[in-house]
Amino acid sequence: MSGGDGRLGHVITNPEGELPPPATAPDSPRRPKQPSLLQRPCMYLACFVKSLPVLFISGIVGWSYYAYVIALLLYAMMDNPIEQILCGILYHYFFIMFFWSYGMTIFTPPGRVPDNWHLSRHATAALSSAKSEDEWKETLAKVGSKMGCNTKQRSVQGALRYCEKCECIKPDRAHHCSVCEICILKMDHHCPWVNNCVGFRNYKFFMLFLCYALLYCIFIAATSARYFVRFWSDSLSLGTAKYHIIFVFLVSILFTISIFSLFWYHVYLVTQNRSTLEQFRAPVFEDQAADKEGWSLGSLNNFKEVFGMNPLLWPFPVSTSVGDGLYFPHRRAKQFNNYHSIANSDNRVAETPTRTLVNPIISGAGTISTTQTIHSSHASSVQQSGHISALSGTVSPLSATEVVLDTNGHTRTVPVHPAYHGIDGVAPSEVVIQ
Ligand SMILES: [Zn+2]
Ligand SMILES: [Zn+2]
Repeated sequence: MSGGDGRLGHVITNPEGELPPPATAPDSPRRPKQPSLLQRPCMYLACFVKSLPVLFISGIVGWSYYAYVIALLLYAMMDNPIEQILCGILYHYFFIMFFWSYGMTIFTPPGRVPDNWHLSRHATAALSSAKSEDEWKETLAKVGSKMGCNTKQRSVQGALRYCEKCECIKPDRAHHCSVCEICILKMDHHCPWVNNCVGFRNYKFFMLFLCYALLYCIFIAATSARYFVRFWSDSLSLGTAKYHIIFVFLVSILFTISIFSLFWYHVYLVTQNRSTLEQFRAPVFEDQAADKEGWSLGSLNNFKEVFGMNPLLWPFPVSTSVGDGLYFPHRRAKQFNNYHSIANSDNRVAETPTRTLVNPIISGAGTISTTQTIHSSHASSVQQSGHISALSGTVSPLSATEVVLDTNGHTRTVPVHPAYHGIDGVAPSEVVIQ
């Protein structure tokens, strides 16, 4: 879209397709917008309307507690105390886990872009004054590099991803939510049923919320089905409690059907390491290739990235997701076998292996004992020992061990073949004697 002389008669647009913000004085302070007195009542009304789905769900579940515990457990099951106790324990487990997960999904902030990813006034002014798209991209690339924002994802036009509204560089997998009006880390979608965005910090809670909601509904339907049938087949009469049991059975069946497909859809997305947004639009990477599988590390690792390394904590809505939501391991960088990179969430390590030879000791026999450490983004480090002959200058490694992290995040030392020639077949750089 750049003109022949590099100047345009109209406003330059961001490669993401949005208009740039108006130019502001470089030193003007960044102030949050305060709603006017006239806007405030509308804002409160909007907040109330947005929280209606949460109130609706809470009301339904609150009523289901009365229907199940009072009408079914205490009245309908009064002749069978063992069934009463077992159903009472299991029901309260699902009820507590459901509300815990639901509350965590609602009240956990999904993940904001940190302040150091926001452009200064000076930088936004420089972007606004760009005369062509190429100049705009170049300026943004310089600003991003200066800020240390090493993202792997790019816009369709190959530029760094930039949010005009938040005036920030978007970290990988982050998107702007038009409801929350901020950029959300690893945004999945904005969910009206939790009145919150589902993003990096609450995605696990959202998955558990769906899981426990499904289990809660299936449990109620399964244990109330017998009584539901008895009301029609014999003259079991419990007064108004009978209607509560009938309705709680029907409502649980209805919710089971609606949650079932949503839950399994998100299980599929977790195993593919894909957000709902990425399912519809594949992320584009530095090499201009759109790759739906770009973030996938294999099903188990994908699951662990959301649920954490400790299986004991998987069923509980506590924060265990791996990483910081800014950087993610990347299939295209061949990092999928090494969970160390996820735990650190730091893709800024050099991807070219380098060697440093430390502490050479010259022995009386004319040989030098060496220990060298090889760093790469793939393996954590390789310790290699050997002797250098003073006469021939050749390295004769006697033994080499590699410290690696297994998929559980534990370190272990494994032997490396003496004729080690680098990582992944890439020849390491020259040995340097310090
Ligand atoms: Zn934004
Ligand atoms: Zn949102």
